[in-house]
Amino acid sequence: MSKHYNVAIDGPSGAGKSTIAKILSSRLNIVYLDTGALYRAVGLKAYRDGWAEDDGAVAGLIGSIDIRVGYDKETGKQHVYLGSEDVSEEIRKDFVSGYGSRFSALPSVRAALLSLQREIAAEHSSVLDGRDIGTFVLPDARFKFFLTASSDVRAARRYKELIARGQTADYEQVKRDIEERDFRDSTRAVAPLKKASDAIEIDSSELTADEVAEKMISIIRSQL
Ligand code: C5P
Repeated sequence: MSKHYNVAIDGPSGAGKSTIAKILSSRLNIVYLDTGALYRAVGLKAYRDGWAEDDGAVAGLIGSIDIRVGYDKETGKQHVYLGSEDVSEEIRKDFVSGYGSRFSALPSVRAALLSLQREIAAEHSSVLDGRDIGTFVLPDARFKFFLTASSDVRAARRYKELIARGQTADYEQVKRDIEERDFRDSTRAVAPLKKASDAIEIDSSELTADEVAEKMISIIRSQL
């Protein structure tokens, strides 16, 4: 078997995908692509430029945005750029989540981000986390996982994350936002959030990040 491989981790917001993907990236020494960050960058651009949530209109604008991904040489941390501006921090702000989710439902946005994701995956052994990696972006990924957790656990994690970033947050509001995003992500017409038929499902509600990562790593190592 070739040494190049990709790991797809899909699942709803707050299931722990990015935490786990980072652990996998460092333990397996593979590249990590946080695909949600790309949709967030589009959402940020849409917010700043006042884009209408309309596929026809966005199709005419999306080609002009220059989204790039880079990695810090020392820490390996992913940075996302809009043109020359590093927006990695800005896209984590809570209001950007809604914009990212709404604009990610537009076919023109998904089409524009597809080649970037596939290029990175083709070039490097990598772990990609998102909503449609195992079903659509990398249907042939060697390893596919679908990570879930109860909405209470996911909301509590997102709340803690926002507070840790120094942002203000209301737990009930965070939970409502998460449920709204889940609904939108799983009911949209294009590439909805869905478990790939060949993905291994892991419920992380009662597991620590290290326990989840350990399960995945042992599956991956046993097949490499
Ligand atoms: O994962 P994260 O919360 O950063 O993603 C932001 C939004 O981008 C999600 O709510 C989802 O709507 C969208 N997304 C997507 N497909 C992906 C990754 C994220 O539609 N592969």
